[in-house]
Amino acid sequence: MRLPRARLFVLGRRSLPSDDFQGTAHTLRSLHQIAENPGTMLDSLTPEQRAKQLHVIADTAASCTSCGLSERRTNVVFGAGNPDADLMVIGEGPGKDEDEQGLPFVGRSGQLLTSLLEEAGWYRRDIYISNVVKCRPPGNRDPQQEEIDACKGYLADQIKLIDPAVVMTLGNFSSRLLLKRATGITKLRGHVYPWWGRHVVPTFHPAAALRGGAKVADLIREDIALARQVVVDARPGEQLGLFE
Ligand code: SF4
Repeated sequence: MRLPRARLFVLGRRSLPSDDFQGTAHTLRSLHQIAENPGTMLDSLTPEQRAKQLHVIADTAASCTSCGLSERRTNVVFGAGNPDADLMVIGEGPGKDEDEQGLPFVGRSGQLLTSLLEEAGWYRRDIYISNVVKCRPPGNRDPQQEEIDACKGYLADQIKLIDPAVVMTLGNFSSRLLLKRATGITKLRGHVYPWWGRHVVPTFHPAAALRGGAKVADLIREDIALARQVVVDARPGEQLGLFE
């Protein structure tokens, strides 16, 4: 069940680090149109309106050629899930299965992630999942900085529209992008980070658990439980940022 949206009165005005984490030019236009109309503040959009906006942005991304990853992709993997989610999960980039199906986290890593989230009571229909880059890096290589820079506007738009209470970042790339720290995920994880009126909970990418076994999966479990606790404990007074 979604938390009360009273907190969003503030979040709507300081939702993202705008200097370097802006939305796409196309979508900023539509978001500005919304923001300029006091009757349709982002905060007051219904889940249906937010879903519609996400579709508009996804349509734009579907033909995006802003970086070289467009050349070899089968599908743009924009993201999937509940536009009204309390939890947004951000991975690195699509793999082979995701590229073929156009959906995030549907391969082996995704199945493990889904299972770990379900253990904590979070089903895919309840959350929203996306990646730092929306097109598959060839051979599942790491995304390059210029690709991340070219694509991050889409992620900014997704975060603005979904406005989750908690963002769970999977692995180094999404964690470093949001938290702006060079620290590796092994040291970052296990903590909750205040982030522009929300909270970021970094954890390992599930692919690391496939390689590293039960020990890594247990650490992801711990971090998911941490994220769950943040959502459960969240109260409007805390989320208004009065004590930051
Ligand atoms: S990765 Fe992002 S920026 Fe690059 S082509 Fe795909 S959608 Fe566009």
